[in-house]
Amino acid sequence: MTEIRAETAEAQAIEWISRYGTYNYQPLPIAVHHARESRVWDTEGRDYLDCIGCYSAVSCGHLNPAVVAAIGSQLHKLAIVGRAVNATELGVFLKRLCEYAQMDRACPMNSGAEAVETAIKIARKWAYTVKGVPREQAEIIVAEGNFHGRTTTIVGFSSEARHRADFGPFASGFRLVPFGDLAAVEAAFSDQTAAVLMEPIQAEGGIILPPPGFMAGLRRLCAERNVLLIWDEIQTGFCRTGIRFAWQHEDARPDMVCLGKALGGGVYPVSAVAGRDDVMGVLRPGDHGSTFGGNPLAAVVGLAAMDEMDRMGLAERSRRLGSQLHEGLAELRLPVVKDVRGRGLLVGLEVDESVCRKSLTRAFLRVGILTQETRARTYRFAPPLTIEEDDVFEIVRRAAQALATAS
Ligand SMILES: *Cc1c(COP(=O)(O)O)cnc(C)c1O
Repeated sequence: MTEIRAETAEAQAIEWISRYGTYNYQPLPIAVHHARESRVWDTEGRDYLDCIGCYSAVSCGHLNPAVVAAIGSQLHKLAIVGRAVNATELGVFLKRLCEYAQMDRACPMNSGAEAVETAIKIARKWAYTVKGVPREQAEIIVAEGNFHGRTTTIVGFSSEARHRADFGPFASGFRLVPFGDLAAVEAAFSDQTAAVLMEPIQAEGGIILPPPGFMAGLRRLCAERNVLLIWDEIQTGFCRTGIRFAWQHEDARPDMVCLGKALGGGVYPVSAVAGRDDVMGVLRPGDHGSTFGGNPLAAVVGLAAMDEMDRMGLAERSRRLGSQLHEGLAELRLPVVKDVRGRGLLVGLEVDESVCRKSLTRAFLRVGILTQETRARTYRFAPPLTIEEDDVFEIVRRAAQALATAS
């Protein structure tokens, strides 16, 4: 058996990642050893404030004790069993998830991309069997700058050349419009339009917020034209933006919502699509499935994550600490900082063209902040929502130091 011993030379293990792994990531030059709450430690014992937060997957904090306890006790009972049988854990999870998300039914999956794929399948089937769109002609409207995952279908409707290059041919049936532009969505509508699929805030796209009123306007437009509204809340959901779901900032309740990341409580992949009864109801036995989706271990993890988010009041916490972080970074008034934007604890800091991004990323590491550039010269500040108030101020202090060396 291959052992991972503390004394295994860390440098050796890092080398193995590049020797035996594929080159689809370019990790920061540190080796993380362990993590707790909003901090991670490298193999040399240095600690960092985790402002990447695994893209919202660790919203409940690293190794949240309640989530860890839930998974621990479930491991004495039942872990993985397919959907060929019923497991009580799944029933309890689905009921809680539907109530939490204010939806009627949910389809459990594992990764975010699978949740998006599931929503696409349901939207198309709804278009053909309910709306009456001619077969093979359904269209889904998506936004420029989107990020919905990495499957071939999903990268096929990305507007980022580097996500698509050399991976075609792609699935058809998608139309790109500028993000936040209601008139462009309306102009793209036709009798074949099945759905609009968008993120309420484009997180990977550079923490881009749509103009106020866009979400509610899109909701009205979709209802008028019998088009499904699908919000991808995989990153913005579960309190990240200071409220359970970002669509709740406006009157913009979707027909389906894609969920993932934080639903896994920071320990295990759990995703789902939740939606209206008559939309989700189009799926019939055999239409869709997943070997691991909705397994009992995932179900108890998802349940514990939602319970913890409520118990710790993470929505309110994200709103309060998010504005402190936002204001703290904005008030630095550094000439290299072009913009600070976001909602709740999803904050982007955009630097101007004079900054060498490689050296700034290293400067952040030197001061003990884990952050990475999204698109558009924007650094992500999205720590676990359990972060302490003192640590929010510490992020601002350390960021100021790092930015000072970069200018
Ligand atoms: C991360 C992300 C996904 C993809 O989730 P995976 O679990 O990586 O497949 C989809 N949509 C959004 C908005 C995301 O942030």
